[in-house]
Amino acid sequence: MIELKNIDVEFGHGGNAFKAVNDVSLTIQDGEVFGIVGPSGAGKSTLVRVINMLQPPTRGQVLIDGRDITKLNRRELRKVRLNIGMIFQHFNLISGSTIAENVAFSLYANKYPKDKIPGRVKELLELVHLPEKADAYPANLSGGQKQRVAIARALANNPEILLCDEATSALDLENTEEIVALLKEINQKTGITIVFITHEMEVAKKLFDRIAFMEQGKLKEISDIYTAFTEPKEPIAKRLVERVLNVTVPEALTVKEDEELLRLSYTGDDSYDPVISMASKNYDITIDIISGKVDYIHNKPFGVMIVILRGAGSEREKALEYIEKNVYKLERLGGK
Ligand code: ADP
Repeated sequence: MIELKNIDVEFGHGGNAFKAVNDVSLTIQDGEVFGIVGPSGAGKSTLVRVINMLQPPTRGQVLIDGRDITKLNRRELRKVRLNIGMIFQHFNLISGSTIAENVAFSLYANKYPKDKIPGRVKELLELVHLPEKADAYPANLSGGQKQRVAIARALANNPEILLCDEATSALDLENTEEIVALLKEINQKTGITIVFITHEMEVAKKLFDRIAFMEQGKLKEISDIYTAFTEPKEPIAKRLVERVLNVTVPEALTVKEDEELLRLSYTGDDSYDPVISMASKNYDITIDIISGKVDYIHNKPFGVMIVILRGAGSEREKALEYIEKNVYKLERLGGK
């Protein structure tokens, strides 16, 4: 378990001092894929580097399995770090060494029994589905393959925690999906705890179990990933989620007499289609769908739809009442 308690990280001095991380407390459970999102400069990278003390905090405690690692000497810290692998946006492979040598490097560095190194390297390359690239050089690999090598290297010493700092941000869509799928697979297979920071909400949606939203050094919201997408509360969470759903009201749209513009939210427990068709059938109204999107998180559907409800006074009100009762959330965006 990882516990961050009242973490501050301050950079600069005197008048120039500012908090890149400001009083952040959170707990990450064993085996979780925990993600931190937020705009560039929010303090995500600084916070994740606090977890392995690459960035010592100015204030606060970092507890790994109940042990405060901010108090350790260098030798003790080195041991703790063996248990925490890390990957980065730019894969940081050694270009003059083969893939197998790149992976073996962290085993040599940590005094892994020499005769067992080739076997362990093979095992790791199989784990990341790259056994055939053992003798290739980084330059001959795609971005996704390079990141897979970096993952193999980070896992060499069997850590219980893997920190991922924008690990898919330099990759195209296809390679991003490949890395997301691989990390999920490794998480499920080994039970490793993954802490992943990104500004990409698509990655968050596919990979995370829980999500934390950060802005200007502060932790703004934390929840399971499904709730974050269906019920974002803070403005930063709403903004980021909205971007993925990409359901907006066209600017040119005007709401006329006897019309009302609605935003309907959909979750796994209800469904629009019957609600909309039933409302049109039972009341003297029509409904036009302006825009909508249904998406899935861990196979559970959710979505948003913008519609115009058209009909005279009381029929419109009755239809509204019916729809409100039968969808997850109804927001009235305007009308007459
Ligand atoms: P994010 O990962 O969310 O983009 P960072 O943690 O990289 O954000 O940075 C948060 C803020 O702290 C930024 O304003 C950044 O410029 C600043 N910062 C990060 N590292 C240092 C450093 N070593 N010295 C001074 N300022 C830093």
